[in-house]
Amino acid sequence: MCYNSFVPRLYNWCMALGLTPGRIMPSRAFCSDESQGFPIILLTKHFGAFPFNHGRVGGIVSTERHGPHAELGKDLLLLQASHVGYEPETGEFGIYRRLQSEHENYSCSCGKIGRIIEWYQTEYAYACENIRLLRHEGQLAVLVDYQLIASPRAQGLFLIFENLVQGAVGEELPPPLSTRSTGHIFSASNHLIERAGDDSWPQSGSVGIGSLLAAEDFYFRHKGGYLDPLQDQLESNLLAPMPWILTSKHPLLTAACANTMVEFDRTFRSLVQSSAMKGHNLVFIAGLNIDISPNRGEHFPLTKFVPWAAYVQHPDGRREILEQDELIERLGSVGNQNPTQLNLERAIESMAHKREIEVRL
Ligand SMILES: [Zn+2]
Repeated sequence: MCYNSFVPRLYNWCMALGLTPGRIMPSRAFCSDESQGFPIILLTKHFGAFPFNHGRVGGIVSTERHGPHAELGKDLLLLQASHVGYEPETGEFGIYRRLQSEHENYSCSCGKIGRIIEWYQTEYAYACENIRLLRHEGQLAVLVDYQLIASPRAQGLFLIFENLVQGAVGEELPPPLSTRSTGHIFSASNHLIERAGDDSWPQSGSVGIGSLLAAEDFYFRHKGGYLDPLQDQLESNLLAPMPWILTSKHPLLTAACANTMVEFDRTFRSLVQSSAMKGHNLVFIAGLNIDISPNRGEHFPLTKFVPWAAYVQHPDGRREILEQDELIERLGSVGNQNPTQLNLERAIESMAHKREIEVRL
């Protein structure tokens, strides 16, 4: 749903849940990008307060900030969203036009997620090229590069050999049929032959396995160890689903969805355990921001919100988790108009006519 409609619906849903008008402290856990500004302005307008910053780059929730957030309001709202750019002309996800750049050029969005994925993309591309399909003495075979076999390794792409090599058990390989200067040759597994078809093997020479290397054929280990533990959090959120992210049609969209799913679960657990949240009405909602690039002359993106799940907690201890279908139904059942919304222009204008206050030392 469009943010212009989503935020008043969210406000009206909070009213229906019994939150007190004028006593709600909104907070957001968004990425740092300029494209996330418009949703924040709308939250300010409809909830009448600038949202507390609960987020880190990439859409990670700073769960250690629940206490400071809870001190600021009687009732509490937390909105988490990972984000992805979208170009409607081409239907491409993962790019966004930066109006403030010199040539209004497109760049990666979410850039933070994009930079994390790069290392994994390089590893995956190497495997696609260096696992090769070939015929060995008339038999359908695979040539596997030594780098992909080497063990132990602290980090890298690890193959589920059972899916690719006949006679392999899990990650244990059988003796090779033959050895080349840069890798071993093994019989191709029946599983791979069935999936790929005989025609995928060239009559002579070899070809890279390419996109036939499927998500279920490999996984990653990465050392992490960044100075900032929240960088580790984003990367560890993406580590298990990374094979599916890389092999999906829109990797940055898949990655943003995966991050939202993990952050909802992780944040829900931290909220349940937080003593600071006791006695408050709390609405926590997670989803995906799709940032549609602004056209020339427009100031803001047309941001859409895809709800994922919500958690509601009342002062008397009642708790409720809403899955996606139910959440969409609830948001759809309340109106998309909020007559109590702040007139921001008038509020700013009125500040200019306030009495002069001297600051004295
Ligand atoms: Zn971002």
